[in-house]
Amino acid sequence: MSKTLFEKIIAREIPAAIVYEDDYVLAIRDINPQAPVHVLIFPKKLIPRIAEATGDDGKLLSHLLLKAAEVAKKLGLKSGYRLVINNGADGGETVPHLHVHILGGRHLAWPPG
Ligand code: 5GP
Repeated sequence: MSKTLFEKIIAREIPAAIVYEDDYVLAIRDINPQAPVHVLIFPKKLIPRIAEATGDDGKLLSHLLLKAAEVAKKLGLKSGYRLVINNGADGGETVPHLHVHILGGRHLAWPPG
């Protein structure tokens, strides 16, 4: 099976601006930022999308969210930020490797488009 974009970034086959890494997750700057701060954090284990996560992934998903909050703090998003997971075609998912968008640095409107 061919690697996902994020698996290639994890393997350093494609360059990315890394903002956080540990044994389980990697956080990188989005190549097409939608806010002054736009970071993607994803598990190193391939889970295509949140709809395909299982109970066995519980610890990893908890780690992913806790690290997303830690990265947001490290990036100085004191007045707030948004975490987004796009799932499937209608959700706007374009990379089939579960990732959380960390968006901040400006006021974010609601509802999203
Ligand atoms: P999705 O649309 O699947 O929720 O999010 C995928 C994100 O990956 C998009 O925000 C897109 O800008 C970002 N992206 C696509 N290709 C690359 C790339 O080569 N490098 C980085 N850093 N981000 C990418």
